[in-house]
Amino acid sequence: MSVIHTNCTCGKAVEIRTGKDSDSRYRKDGKQAVYPGEDGYCIFRCDQCLEPLSETVPAFAYES
Ligand SMILES: [Zn+2]
Repeated sequence: MSVIHTNCTCGKAVEIRTGKDSDSRYRKDGKQAVYPGEDGYCIFRCDQCLEPLSETVPAFAYES
C-alpha cells in the first residue's frame, strides 16, 4: 500500500494510490489515480493531454 506522487508524461501532477490507500472499485489490481487535492475522484485519462494514465504513468500501469 502506498501513495505515489508522480506526473503524467505531459507534466500534469497525479497521485497514484494502491492497496489500502486506494478506494478504487474499478480495477482488479486496486490502483487508483487522483489529482492531488481532489480526494476520492478516480481519473483514468489525463485531462490535460487526454492520454490514458495507465500508459503515461508507469506506477499506474496495469498489473496482471
Ligand atoms: Zn497528461
